[in-house]
Amino acid sequence: MIVILKQKASQEEVAKLTKQLEAKGVIVNPVIGTEKSILGLVGDTTKIDPSSIEANGIVERVMKVQEPFKKANRMFHPEPTIVDVNGVKIGGNKIAMIAGPCSVESEEQITDIAKEVKDIGANFLRGGAFKPRTSPYAFQGLKYEGLELLKKARENTGLPIVTELMSPYDIETFVENVDVIQVGARNMQNFDLLKELGKIDKPILLKRGLSATIEEWLMSAEYIMAGGNENVILCERGIRTFETYTRNTLDLSAIPAVKKLSHLPVVVDPSHSAGKYWMVEPLAKAAIAVGADGLIIEVHNDPANALCDGPQSIKPNKFAKLMEELKVIAAAVGREI
Ligand code: PEP
Ligand code: MN
Repeated sequence: MIVILKQKASQEEVAKLTKQLEAKGVIVNPVIGTEKSILGLVGDTTKIDPSSIEANGIVERVMKVQEPFKKANRMFHPEPTIVDVNGVKIGGNKIAMIAGPCSVESEEQITDIAKEVKDIGANFLRGGAFKPRTSPYAFQGLKYEGLELLKKARENTGLPIVTELMSPYDIETFVENVDVIQVGARNMQNFDLLKELGKIDKPILLKRGLSATIEEWLMSAEYIMAGGNENVILCERGIRTFETYTRNTLDLSAIPAVKKLSHLPVVVDPSHSAGKYWMVEPLAKAAIAVGADGLIIEVHNDPANALCDGPQSIKPNKFAKLMEELKVIAAAVGREI
């Protein structure tokens, strides 16, 4: 961190500020020039809030030279993290395929779709039991019954289940019953929830917030990791932009960015990015081409009558065709599906 001082700063004032900064556990290296003077802070600056230094009258500006996230940072953990979900891995050479409906609707629906996606080659089953809907009048999910149905589908297929947790009250239930806990875009900055998830060791799929920067997203991962849970999988699911043609704008550039900044695996959700079923295929291909470690795709056997997100859901036959085509893209970038 670099502190740029105002020209008028007196020696006494600089000495006082230096003492204050040293008290925060960093080494202060002063560079006193004729025009400008700067203080270079070396050491663990994670606990120093730049704006509190800027509140000092002799400080012109504070510049960060390092990212504020440590545990999620590739600098301190050069090897990519592979999250092991009961033997099925996310990260590494093999691309993880997570597929299933937006919501669990009935036993028949979830078990039928689970069998189909399993036969096609999916490694995980997705399905929401607790749904974060924009309208309080929309279908809110089957909740605990939905979790039971997901477990039946897992029994039938062996596929590990990925499902969204909305409340800290349900953490124990999720730890007992699911394989990967999804934190939805709307909860990416629910810091109390993230802190609680840091206390468990269940893998967490952390979706990027609707308008979150890459740094904010990684700071949310840091919240979970700081508590001791390092099993975090990032998920790019599109962000809000001025464009309204698509539901969100898939930020493809976030994938190489996150892979450079962090060692955590990153998966892409082309379904919520596009909001349109026919865009899932090209976006999924693009995601693999830019280095995604996996995909999470909404697959429904009757999209026209789906209780949630039918317009962005693909049918199993489309998913099967996509899987075949993705194998070619994966091979071209040295990966396998
Ligand atoms: C979902 O995966 O069904 C979902 C609600 O996603 P997001 O949090 O990305 O909107
Ligand atoms: Mn959905």
